Order: sequence, then C-alpha cells, then structure tokens
Amino acid sequence: MRYSKQRELILKKVAALDDHPTAEEIHRVASADCPGLSLGTVYRNLNGLVEAGVVRRVTVPGRADRFDHTLCQHSHFCCTSCGNVTDAELHEAALMQTIQSGGQSVAGYELTLFGVCPQCTAQKKLS
Ligand SMILES: [Zn+2]
Ligand SMILES: [Zn+2]
Repeated sequence: MRYSKQRELILKKVAALDDHPTAEEIHRVASADCPGLSLGTVYRNLNGLVEAGVVRRVTVPGRADRFDHTLCQHSHFCCTSCGNVTDAELHEAALMQTIQSGGQSVAGYELTLFGVCPQCTAQKKLS
C-alpha cells in the first residue's frame, strides 16, 4: 500500500473512532484493512497527521498518547480507573476568558481532567 494511501486509511480510522484511540488501537483496526501494516508505520503516519494539523494528539501523563479527530478547542477527562479518555464538558469560552484576563496573549491550552468515569462509578457501587 502506498504511503499516501496508508495515511488516508489511518486518518479514516481516527475519524471513525470516537473514543480517542491509542496508536495500538488504530493499528488494530487499520491492519484489518491493510494486512502487514506495522505499528511503526502507524506511529509515523499519526505524527505526520498531527504535524499537518488534521489530527490532534492528546497527551495523558504516564499513559500512551491518544489521537483525536475533533480539532476545535476542547478539554479531556481521563478515568484513573479504566484509562478511558472522553471529552470533558467545560465552558471553554469562559475558561479562555479567565486565562486571558491575566494579560498574556494565550492562543490555546491543553487541559486533562482526572477522576472516575460514570461507568466505573456505577461498577464500584455494584460490587
Ligand atoms: Zn472508567
Ligand atoms: Zn477529544
């Protein structure tokens, strides 16, 4: 498979996965369509897509990077129990205003909230 085709396939997979997949997860679904695709190739393509600004990297300290097709300013929530990363419900515009009131010219921010997701909370109550 040609390089540009691989890149297209990986971009399609990132767009189809709504749960901020890791490179390993993208590799798993992409290699179903393109047998023999290596994890290294997936990483290389993902880095290229991030550099091109079509995919966003979500960095979670101490965990594997996640990839996101939602490019607009939004924050994330990471469950410390299951490791799932979801979009956080935050008033981003209000947050941005708060940041800018400090006098700096801020272009953006990356915010990851940590805690326990509703699914894990429900499971804890059951057990
Ligand atoms: Zn969880
Ligand atoms: Zn996101």
